[in-house]
Amino acid sequence: MSASTHDLVIIGAGPAGMSAALTAASLGMKTLLLDEQLRPGGQIYRNITAVPPSVAALLGPDYRHGEGLAARLGRSGVELRFGAMVWDVARDLTVTAQQDGQSFQVRAPQLIAATGAMERASPIPGWTLPGVLNAGAAQIALKSASAVPSGRVVLAGSGPLLLLVACQLLDAGVSLAGIVETSPSTNRWRALRHLPAALGAHAYLAKGLRMLWRLRRAGVPMFAAATSLRVEGGERVQALAFKADRIDHLLHADVVLLHHGVVPNTQLSRLLRVDHDWDLVQLAWRPQVNAWGETSLAGFRVAGDGAAIAGAQAAEPNGTLAALGAAQALGRLDVTECEQRAASARGTLKRQLRIRPFLDALYRPPEWLSDPTDETVVCRCEEVTAGRVREMARLGCQGPNQTKFFSRCGMGPCQGRVCGLTVTQILSTELGRPPSEVGAYHIRSPLKPVPLASIAALADTATIENSEPMETT
Ligand SMILES: Cc1cc2nc3c(=O)[nH]c(=O)nc-3n(C[C@H](O)[C@H](O)[C@H](O)COP(=O)(O)OP(=O)(O)OC[C@H]3O[C@@H](n4cnc5c(N)ncnc54)[C@H](O)[C@@H]3O)c2cc1C
Repeated sequence: MSASTHDLVIIGAGPAGMSAALTAASLGMKTLLLDEQLRPGGQIYRNITAVPPSVAALLGPDYRHGEGLAARLGRSGVELRFGAMVWDVARDLTVTAQQDGQSFQVRAPQLIAATGAMERASPIPGWTLPGVLNAGAAQIALKSASAVPSGRVVLAGSGPLLLLVACQLLDAGVSLAGIVETSPSTNRWRALRHLPAALGAHAYLAKGLRMLWRLRRAGVPMFAAATSLRVEGGERVQALAFKADRIDHLLHADVVLLHHGVVPNTQLSRLLRVDHDWDLVQLAWRPQVNAWGETSLAGFRVAGDGAAIAGAQAAEPNGTLAALGAAQALGRLDVTECEQRAASARGTLKRQLRIRPFLDALYRPPEWLSDPTDETVVCRCEEVTAGRVREMARLGCQGPNQTKFFSRCGMGPCQGRVCGLTVTQILSTELGRPPSEVGAYHIRSPLKPVPLASIAALADTATIENSEPMETT
């Protein structure tokens, strides 16, 4: 597709995408915002425009902050397409998406991917048993369907989101059988040197302390620096076994929620083969971006947690900066105007980033998480174990793409989203080479499964220009 349908296309209506769209609209750019969810909000403000008031109250003021953003977006004149899942982006920035079972294409000289983060995999023995979920998945059910897990729930892992979900479930009346924290105690010492800078973000620290106090006051059993986690059960989960304070523990559970932080969702930036770095602190890939979010592919920008994990409040100014960069590239702003408008977003971003080194050090995932036992399944889709990945390394595989050819590891419907980082890390250890040299899976379209009929419909519908006028609510 060569002709442009818009000035700017944005993928993802979380805080970064919404903020980018509002900035672009204020500059008169013809902007299209696509999101596979049915409503704006992204992960943090998921379902914000339709959530029942009782659930919104339970999720707290941080969640309700999204109401203002979504309302402004609705009035902005930005063309909005929800339920629109992007499954391909070509290097000329043609975007192919599917909505209502039909694929369509759009193109703009500037494209912002604000596709956010995803939860890091927690490959521990038994994690594929029914009843084991990511903590974020439990939160998605709460936000989108007002549903909570029933029975005894154990949360295990590390990171602020683990505590947040625990508090939200507690407030929703869920019976928490325990919280099993896996951050090694050495993390605390490493985090301490970042505390003075983090004190600049004292509201954030206070929020964390309030969550801990809330859980302790409710009498939820809490365990620190746990190791040797194993989900026990036959047909489904029955308990979580682990070691803490040199003692073996067994917590009976009907549901186990795992969480080890979030990592940038790089499927789209990898599809476009832009340059990526291995982040030695966050232990994940991130696309290389400049101050305006632009990647090594001209016109393609990444904003928000998809560029580096920095949280929702940093995602907003990040989206603004990406949109300003796009406006400047299109000649809508000169350099001076662009710098002037960027100053406030830069200031906010700087303040929001003050807490990151502390959080990254405190919640650095334990080393054992990237070194699963041989019997542990790492690729859930194709049921490939860590032992099989190691065996392939010993047979001469030099990277994830070779292990994929020989074992189908990473070839299932999730396209390696879940196992990608773990496989890179296992190979890195086994081959004695850094992850940056071992590399990552090549990502190919479709990014997510698409029915053949939808692809076939592309030939008929071709571009959005030929389709019905869009609803802009
Ligand atoms: C499961 C989960 C729950 C979280 N909950 C919280 C929370 O409660 N509080 C908090 O502070 N932080 C939370 N976070 C962290 C949070 O994601 C961010 O800090 C913040 O939402 C990042 O904003 P963003 O705009 O970069 O991305 P997001 O908010 O993640 O928005 C990305 C958007 O892109 C869309 N998208 C992705 N791929 C495609 C595609 N191919 N086609 C179309 N649309 C696509 C998604 O549907 C999503 O709406 C959560 C993270 C995860 C993974």
